[in-house]
Amino acid sequence: MKTYDAIVIGAGPGGYPCGIRLGQLKVKTLVIEKESPGGVCLNWGCIPSKALISAANTFEKIKHGGMGIKVQGLTVDPNELQDWKEGIVKRLTGGVKSLLKMNGADLAMGTATVTSPNTVEVVGEGGQKETYKAEKAIVIATGAQTIEIPTFKFDGTRIIGAREAVSLRTVPKRMLVIGGGIIGLELGMVYQKLGSQLTVLEALPSILNGVDPECSKIVERRITKLGGTIHVGAKALGYEKQSDGSLAVAFEKDGKRDTVVCDVVLVAVGMRPSARNLGLEKVGVHINERGFVPIDKQGRTNVPSIYAVGDVSGPPLLAHKATKEGEIVAEVIAGHKAAMDWVSIPGAIFTDPEIATAGLTADEAKQKGYEVAIGKFPFAALGKAMALNETEGFVKVVADKKTKQILGVHIVGPEASTMISEAALSLEMAAFLEDVNLTIHPHPTLGEAYMEAAAHAMGQAIHIANR
Ligand code: NAD
Repeated sequence: MKTYDAIVIGAGPGGYPCGIRLGQLKVKTLVIEKESPGGVCLNWGCIPSKALISAANTFEKIKHGGMGIKVQGLTVDPNELQDWKEGIVKRLTGGVKSLLKMNGADLAMGTATVTSPNTVEVVGEGGQKETYKAEKAIVIATGAQTIEIPTFKFDGTRIIGAREAVSLRTVPKRMLVIGGGIIGLELGMVYQKLGSQLTVLEALPSILNGVDPECSKIVERRITKLGGTIHVGAKALGYEKQSDGSLAVAFEKDGKRDTVVCDVVLVAVGMRPSARNLGLEKVGVHINERGFVPIDKQGRTNVPSIYAVGDVSGPPLLAHKATKEGEIVAEVIAGHKAAMDWVSIPGAIFTDPEIATAGLTADEAKQKGYEVAIGKFPFAALGKAMALNETEGFVKVVADKKTKQILGVHIVGPEASTMISEAALSLEMAAFLEDVNLTIHPHPTLGEAYMEAAAHAMGQAIHIANR
């Protein structure tokens, strides 16, 4: 039996940074991966989808962006697009292998099962079995997997999940998305811009549940403006194959039955944690009623030598949360004083326009007993946004009316995903509205919108009317 100090199961954005950090801290580490290093994020999620989104946005912008740019015969070759995307994935997943090696952590390919609080059995790709001992710790970083709807079983071509949707080599004429959440809208908009007729069925009363409704409204408007249809409060029931190969999808809305005809159905109704079939129950690790493995602030499960990070340990299911947890758990295993102690986990949704959030919404702040001051600055009033010809959206700052401390920032608009990092830092540093307003933001930049929104919350905005 080979012995390590730490064994990490899963080389996604939680597991591989954990392995790298353990290596840096001189903890003898083995990372085990059953599919491809980089996990869902690098292989089928964050990165491939962002490559497709950037291509679709570029295409759309050249086609309809105004600015006097005129191009004739503009087309996208979905095959070349896929090849380019796959090149990026290959470079990054290869990078994960080198980074682990460079930092002294070993990587084994195979399927791992926890057989005791200190041992892991791995069945390799050729079926060979190997048992490893972890002297100090086992880290579960197995992520999450796509939820399937029984009446829409994946068939890999017509009824697909996000994995297949980032790998399509033809643009469907008509795409139906079940689930108006992050994946459904990000990928739905890609194909919409590349030419698909898009229909979205969302079971809840609004798309992007949990996001500031003023932000999601803007994305909803954009999808509709691009010719798409969104049905909220709509439940997909099932489908029938038509003689021409298309699918007639039945759904119920407001108590009435209706049908949409499409060529591809993308099912994006959420992800569930991958905590089962790992042997965890047998060694006494608690898995909660929602399938997550609960952890404490140091990432420990109820079995002291077993830790969990990322999607498997609980929401939000975000790569950057997984990575930070992985790094902290590595520090804890190495005997350092470390704990998960962040003010906010920012989120970025790569729809058009993008939505990004950090901290509390106004409603959440009110529920927590704050009297709130709100500042809002529209991109329509910002020179840089006009120069980009991307003036939809705004930056909204929610602050404590009494102390002026910033409680949350919600951005919908160009580069919202980039801008939110400044807001996240503001929250971590317990910044006040004045701190942001007194920080000189270079002109002309999109970042000025955050400064002006903070100023607006104090009645001091320069480029819009103050209340
Ligand atoms: P989600 O939870 O964001 O959205 C799923 C949506 O499907 C919900 O709005 C839900 O109400 C709806 N739904 C569920 N059952 C339905 C049904 N039968 N008919 C119609 N609608 C139904 O989940 P997702 O979009 O699949 O994404 C999965 C996870 O991946 C999320 O937790 C998300 O945080 C993460 N993710 C994040 C990003 C990002 O941060 N940019 C990108 C992709 C995925």
